[in-house]
Amino acid sequence: MGCEMQQTSNEEALAMAALDAAPDGILIVDDTGTILKANPATELLTGYGPEELTGQSVSVFLPQHMRSKHNHLVKSFFQHPVSRPMGMVSQLQLLRKDGQSVPVDIALGHCSMGDRFVAVVYMRDMTEMKRLQEDMHYQATHDGLTGLANRWMFMQHFEQAMQRARRGGRMMALLLLDLDEFKDVNDSHGHAAGDQVLIEVARRLRSSLRAGDVIARLGGDEFTVLLPDVPSMDHVLQVAQKVQRSLSARCQLKMGEVSLGASIGITAFPDDAQDSGTLMRFADMAMYAAKAHGRGTHAVYRPEMSEALSQRSQMHERLKRAVETQALELHYQPQVDVSTGSIVGVEALLRWHDAELGSVPPDRFIPVAVSTGLIHPLGDWVLETACRQAAEWADNGTPVRVSINLSAQQFRQAQLPTRLQQLLDQYGTRAELIELEITETEAMADPDTAHQVFERLRTLGFSIALDDFGTGYSSLSYLRQLPVSRLKIDREFIRQVTHNDNDAVLVRAVIAMAHTLGLPVVAEGVEEAAQLAFLRSNGCESYQGWLFAKALPAADISRMLGGPTRPSALEQRYFA
Ligand code: C2E
Ligand code: CA
Ligand code: CA
Repeated sequence: MGCEMQQTSNEEALAMAALDAAPDGILIVDDTGTILKANPATELLTGYGPEELTGQSVSVFLPQHMRSKHNHLVKSFFQHPVSRPMGMVSQLQLLRKDGQSVPVDIALGHCSMGDRFVAVVYMRDMTEMKRLQEDMHYQATHDGLTGLANRWMFMQHFEQAMQRARRGGRMMALLLLDLDEFKDVNDSHGHAAGDQVLIEVARRLRSSLRAGDVIARLGGDEFTVLLPDVPSMDHVLQVAQKVQRSLSARCQLKMGEVSLGASIGITAFPDDAQDSGTLMRFADMAMYAAKAHGRGTHAVYRPEMSEALSQRSQMHERLKRAVETQALELHYQPQVDVSTGSIVGVEALLRWHDAELGSVPPDRFIPVAVSTGLIHPLGDWVLETACRQAAEWADNGTPVRVSINLSAQQFRQAQLPTRLQQLLDQYGTRAELIELEITETEAMADPDTAHQVFERLRTLGFSIALDDFGTGYSSLSYLRQLPVSRLKIDREFIRQVTHNDNDAVLVRAVIAMAHTLGLPVVAEGVEEAAQLAFLRSNGCESYQGWLFAKALPAADISRMLGGPTRPSALEQRYFA
């Protein structure tokens, strides 16, 4: 930016035009630091008019305490004038005429004027840029929705806190929270409701923790809390309980009330591990252990969890592949009329044989599917296969009611009724051939939703059975209102019914109560003739169990339904 000034009037006019048009403030300063000229943009930036500045020292833009140091800088600049581009000095502030300071960046150039040098100072307003940078920094370190720290920021805090804890010989705890059934809120109330829930969770976390605790949203419905200095695990457990209490209060959304809850995994530095990655992994395992234990619980990491996790994730991987490649099967267990011995329905039950894991019972893989969301594609495959099969049996002249097990997650999906109707249309299945089973416990967990969903399904012509009845705590008044078609007595009560008086009393009571509500009863898990006799003498309508048949492939059921040798209830061993 050095130049020789040879002033012809043309060139002078050009130079003036350039100064006038420049968007940056430009000052011409002599070697005593005196301003010889200021362009119009300077006024916008500094608040001083160009004439006001002429003859003043450049240090007018600096606070008093920095002026003498600046004079030195000016001196040394003129001893060896060098040009300097923008962006060499950070955090430069310019003092305006009104006393406000403005962030600026400056570039320097110089010119010789005869035997003297003048400096050309370019001053750029950095207010916008700084705001932009701050915004970008905020966005890079915070979660936009809740305003909590994001994963990156959390890890920074985590590392720093760990170093301090290490130096001070202190204990630190990491809590990993995962909301229970958040997916259901999103699915049934929409994403706006989901967002509202996340914001509310953040608010409740802030209000139940102390200022020094770090709270972050890692993404989705996962949150972390860092307690940087804790006296003992007991203390940590108290904090976890407090957080859970505060989260479990019902949450009022625009579209209605939802109940919240979180599963919390806990791990401690330095006892469990001494690096952030391992601690995060351990907290995650503990969180899964808490989830498996039921909603709204917490678990502290134990080394056995590592083993359980690797098994689970192996199962998840293989199950995912099985769902994708349709390597699962549906078998059907006959439901039999207690008095006539004829088949009145079949229950569709999932079967999975894996090359490595062998035959995995649904009681083991369904929970994995539920906790990983795989239950949605899996459940949909069951719906489709069972509807298609029901239509096929009807088309063959042997119509039979097919009962399908629904998980709570499927049941709460807003699109379930529409999806079922679509399958009926696709395969030409009559709705009265489909019964949907939902466990008593799951229905009663949220009776209002159950009521609504049951009503819709009933309107479409489906029947509904309450599964595993007797294990939950249905209130009779709720039960009276629910549009269910059948109760299924849990096989736990049937198992001992001829040996255990309590079970006998309970089974009798369930049958009697169902009858007062006008509902027929199906007994599950009937293995012995004596159990069947008990059911018969107590007026139970139908049963299913190994006494008659295990769950069988569809082809075997076709043979049973259509074949001339339909088995009587007393010839059951034959199929067992
Ligand atoms: P559930 O709905 O209570 O199904 C009845 C269970 O009792 C089945 O176990 C059946 O094979 C078993 N069972 C039937 N008769 C007898 C008997 O006489 N003795 C004994 N000991 N057991 C008998 P399974 O097939 O292992 O299924 C277990 C659970 O897995 C089911 O319990 C159900 O909750 C779940 N499940 C199975 N298929 C599906 C499905 O397609 N979707 C969903 N969401 N859950 C399913
Ligand atoms: Ca069932
Ligand atoms: Ca059952």
